[in-house]
Amino acid sequence: MNLNLLLSIACITGVTTLASAQPGRWQQKVDYEMEIDFDVSIHRFTGTQKLIYKNNSPDTLHKVFYHLYFNAFQPGSMMDVRSENIQDPDRRVRQRIARLKDSEAGYLQPLSLKQNGKTVQYDVNGTILEVLLNKPVLPGNEVVLKMQFEGQVPLQIRRSGRDNAEGISYSMAQWYPKLCEYDYEGWHANPYIGREFYGTWGDFDVKISIDPTFVVAATGYCQNPNEVGYGYEDEGVEVTHQLNKKLTWHFNAPNVHDFVWAADPDYTHLKKEGPNGIILHFFYQPDSITEKTWPLLPDITANALEFMNEHFGTYPYNKYSVIQAGDGGMEYPMATLINGRSSMEGLVSVTIHEFFHSWYQMVLGSNESLYAWMDEGFTSYASAYTMKYIRDSKNDPLQRLYNNYYLMAKSGNEEPLSSHADHFNTNRAYGIATYSKGAVTLGQLEYIMGKEVFDRAFRRYYNTWKFKHPNPTDFKRIMEKESGLELDWYFLDWVGTTRTIDYGIRSVISKGDKTMVTIERTGQMPMPVEVIVEYNNGDIEKYYLPLRIMRGEKPDDGVIPRIVLPDWPWTYPTYTFAIQAAAETIKRIEIDPSKRMADLNQSDNIFIIDQIMHATFD
Ligand SMILES: [Zn+2]
Repeated sequence: MNLNLLLSIACITGVTTLASAQPGRWQQKVDYEMEIDFDVSIHRFTGTQKLIYKNNSPDTLHKVFYHLYFNAFQPGSMMDVRSENIQDPDRRVRQRIARLKDSEAGYLQPLSLKQNGKTVQYDVNGTILEVLLNKPVLPGNEVVLKMQFEGQVPLQIRRSGRDNAEGISYSMAQWYPKLCEYDYEGWHANPYIGREFYGTWGDFDVKISIDPTFVVAATGYCQNPNEVGYGYEDEGVEVTHQLNKKLTWHFNAPNVHDFVWAADPDYTHLKKEGPNGIILHFFYQPDSITEKTWPLLPDITANALEFMNEHFGTYPYNKYSVIQAGDGGMEYPMATLINGRSSMEGLVSVTIHEFFHSWYQMVLGSNESLYAWMDEGFTSYASAYTMKYIRDSKNDPLQRLYNNYYLMAKSGNEEPLSSHADHFNTNRAYGIATYSKGAVTLGQLEYIMGKEVFDRAFRRYYNTWKFKHPNPTDFKRIMEKESGLELDWYFLDWVGTTRTIDYGIRSVISKGDKTMVTIERTGQMPMPVEVIVEYNNGDIEKYYLPLRIMRGEKPDDGVIPRIVLPDWPWTYPTYTFAIQAAAETIKRIEIDPSKRMADLNQSDNIFIIDQIMHATFD
């Protein structure tokens, strides 16, 4: 587990080459150089941006697209209109965009754009900039795009903005012209409506000049720590600022797909060395609440990171920053913006959740718009186990997520996990699907494959796909390879539809020295079934009914003696098997006491001896 500093740097820089060289899957690369001049008196900035874009695709590109996210914070934007029309608007947005005055709205616009030194035509459509290239970029070629741009930071509405509810001056997320991703599925010029992101891997070099009273926290490694000070400087170095001159903060972030920063004059900056020499940074504004909670956060986060590395794969960068800013909690490469004035419990759980997005989104860079469950669901799953570890709890960490899913599935308003993140009919259906059902997806894989095999497969997924763009099939294939099972049936129904699972014990019939048990599938979606038989003498046995279309079975965990029954062809609505014992010796029979199978109606999952005695004996 112990990667030293050098090794992990080598790992970060080496991976891009490997990724683009991987047969059958290419990925684009873009390096950013940006210089930002920020005027805190009017909340505006100008910038220069140099992109070196490498077309690793087999296609000739005639156009490129950029995101101009800040244009979403203008009255009449797609984000505004969506918020005013959806039946359950995000309470942080509601009609707040519609009410923004000119000086409070956000914007981001190019002032000039050149391709290899020559001016190109472009068109701004809301949050998307469409560029018609002078010369197409051929497969394997590079293009240099230089832009001058200006922006105005909106009042804090969603994720980014100025003067957030806790008084942080600038939450600078989704703030610069960001190249849209082009992959094997084509361009992803997604308008900014509410959620989910996707980006191209590359190296960022960013210089931010701002009033010298501000402390800046950001993605990446600070390149001039002894110049800026504020807790970045080397030990024992004296830093003196000229208070009348802007201070330039220089950050470098290798192999990331986004860049965030935040700035406030009142930040206190704490540091803690975590496992593998990783430096954890914490930025908060001291007040009567945060002074009691934030100083405890570094030790807890370092302890959590040990567990996270061991169970989910090693965090690959040498730095991570937890920054009080934003409007709740939102993940970015090597950093998170979180609300800081919550309870200790809230602060820890948001920090762990957002930190885990470093695995599920920042390193496994799936297209979140299309596969939000692979980011929020996987993050919720991993966070739940880590919170159980931190709390030293005996409770099932996934129970709450299963319960959320059950409520949604029974409500009739559920929408498939395969829905586009911005296209769900309600925010609630999006939230439960991606966070809760997404986590249940993995909970059920524990049940289908066996927990030990799943844990191994989940780490293999991370190690195989890190610094790439895995999709659901890539994930499914790793699960299949590690378990030896065929799993199409599971992902097709569970991710692509809202079919539900329901099994029950239909009858238990005494046949002399045997007991015949009939299991019924009443849900539309098939699953393997485990039935636990508990005897009056305290013995326990597990009857395992694999599904025929799995083409295999999960390994015996050795905890309870297991009897493997012939597999169940899923079209058969019932399945009858014999327990080699008289009914009178049995105390109870139960389907899946682990509760890992998301059985929507569990009232028919248990049969107890009294019921057997009163059942039809024939
Ligand atoms: Zn999340």
